[in-house]
Amino acid sequence: MLNIHGASLINGKQCNITIKNGYIQDVTKEEVYEGDVISVPEGVYVSPGWIDIHTHAFPKFEPYCAHPDIIGYKSGVTTVVDAGSCGADNIEELYELNLECKTRVFSFLNISNVGLKVLNELADLAAISPRRIYESFHKYPDMLVGLKARMSASVIGENGIKPLHIARSCAEKLNKPVMVHIGSAPPKLQDILKVLAKGDIVTHCFNEKEGNNIFNNDPVLTNLLQEAIKRGVYLDVGHGTSSFSFRTAKKAMQKKIPFQTISTDIYETNRIHGPVYNMATTLNKFLALGYSLEEVIRSVTEKPAQVLNKPQLGSLKKGSVADLTFFKVEKKHAVLTDSLGNTLDASVEIKPYAVLLGGEYIECDNEYELKESN
Ligand SMILES: [Zn+2]
Repeated sequence: MLNIHGASLINGKQCNITIKNGYIQDVTKEEVYEGDVISVPEGVYVSPGWIDIHTHAFPKFEPYCAHPDIIGYKSGVTTVVDAGSCGADNIEELYELNLECKTRVFSFLNISNVGLKVLNELADLAAISPRRIYESFHKYPDMLVGLKARMSASVIGENGIKPLHIARSCAEKLNKPVMVHIGSAPPKLQDILKVLAKGDIVTHCFNEKEGNNIFNNDPVLTNLLQEAIKRGVYLDVGHGTSSFSFRTAKKAMQKKIPFQTISTDIYETNRIHGPVYNMATTLNKFLALGYSLEEVIRSVTEKPAQVLNKPQLGSLKKGSVADLTFFKVEKKHAVLTDSLGNTLDASVEIKPYAVLLGGEYIECDNEYELKESN
């Protein structure tokens, strides 16, 4: 039995968390002294372990590559989801890497066998094999959480919307969601939205790409977006090098367009040189936009767990997996930058302090502290 003393819940109340065999047994006001005790310094918050639903957690394919533990537990993220770096050809390698990692790793399987070995992976329809997709899900049912289709001009070649139809039909048979990357047209966003079903995810939702973002002033698109959200299609941030705009995010906030999950689309270059840096910095941008701490933390815990259909994650309820993230929230002025180089002043920062993962309490690396634009 393990007891965590002294951490504050998001509502500010201090709690004791009792953990047994890797699962949360209880969250109470009383300090329990049975078994091991970890005392957390005053002012440290605890939440369910953070889940980053869009990362590139496969170190092999440059440039979209990173090590799961660097973008994971070392920066406060207990679960990373690789968003389509691997297709059927390399999923076994990701699985083997996952076995060596402390961070929990899931994957949206790229519908192309080759994944991000090439950057136009959907330009050749012959590389999309439903048979190999089904085989992969049969072999790695716990790790694979859905399919990934990157539906932008540079990826699809002459294939238009066809790859997405194949993805949706495989997803239907597997009863899993499709995560669809949106970017420069073609295909047009309206054509993508028409194909998506309940539980599917639109990533890079706050991009500002010409004519193909959620606010291109087309009433048809606005209706299609509202219908999609109504039938249960999720919007995911997927910050990335070129896909997050403060202007788009502000408009969405004004128009009350709800996003589900905050994710980074992190890989080596945008981790080291920005504008992503890490999950905490991405969360800080949403605090600076005016979202509450509670909303921000839910978007990286409870909500991604719901999207991934992993109800034992993202929660502090009894019986949940005891993945925890500890963090500080401090007053500090910083200038944060979006993917277009626009800046936003922040006055508060979330800073990861430690994680509890697989029963192990690990303090986060200092080098993964909040980064500023200057
Ligand atoms: Zn990505």
